[in-house]
Amino acid sequence: MKKLVVITGASSGIGEAIARRLSNSGHPLLLLARRIERLEALNLPNTLCEKVDVTDKASFTAAIAKAEGEYGPADCIVNNAGVMLLSELDVQNADEWQTMFDVNVIGLMNGMQAVLAPMKARKTGTIINISSVAGRKTFPNHAAYCGSKFAVHAISENVREEVASSNVRVCTIAPGAVETELLSHTTSKDIVNGYQAWKEDMGGVLAPDDIAQAVEYAYAQPQNVCIREIVLAATAQQ
Ligand code: NDP
Repeated sequence: MKKLVVITGASSGIGEAIARRLSNSGHPLLLLARRIERLEALNLPNTLCEKVDVTDKASFTAAIAKAEGEYGPADCIVNNAGVMLLSELDVQNADEWQTMFDVNVIGLMNGMQAVLAPMKARKTGTIINISSVAGRKTFPNHAAYCGSKFAVHAISENVREEVASSNVRVCTIAPGAVETELLSHTTSKDIVNGYQAWKEDMGGVLAPDDIAQAVEYAYAQPQNVCIREIVLAATAQQ
């Protein structure tokens, strides 16, 4: 049997597409999110679903230990869980900044830390962190979100350098706009409408499976090949 892959935020959008694709290629999976009913509804074989908030390090680590008891050591983690709450900074509630940094940055670091020591000891393993084009360039109304995603790039590349000599790979995948539930948590109707109009003007955005395909490609390389970064977006996106 293929090796265990952990995927965070698999209850919708990109994470769900990654889960379907890696399950289809035969991997046992540990799927994590808060909406466990959405994970279970995927009904994938050899899959453990656990209700975990990635900011809760203890339950995150416990879920991985449980899955490893069933399927063997985690060979890959895809830190995909993320939140985007767009606003102009001067009017944004500080709780929203906190949530984005907690989930997008601390949650991702929790995931890395949960698997790194055993991967280094086994001298194999892959960490795939989902960032964003918003982690490479800034956009209006995105200050805290962009800040959190720029942090994902810096942290990922820093850890890649730390663990390279242990034969552990760290890959950052940075999508442009993708059709998912991500925008639905932004409270400003003007910003949501503006974003929707921008997507329509472009003639459409990527589908979640486009990103899942990039994840599968990066992971499927031989262990001595590390795809450090993939930036992918709709061709029409500036
Ligand atoms: P969705 O909103 O569809 O999915 C987000 C996922 O993250 C959900 O499964 C959600 O699950 C999970 N999640 C959120 N908060 C937590 C938490 N505290 N603990 C555990 N899981 C959590 O959006 P996408 O699929 O688009 O987003 C996936 C990733 O892709 C994010 O990191 C996002 O920033 C990134 N991205 C998305 C782009 C886009 O245009 N859609 C572009 C670039 C990057 P639940 O609510 O059940 O916990």
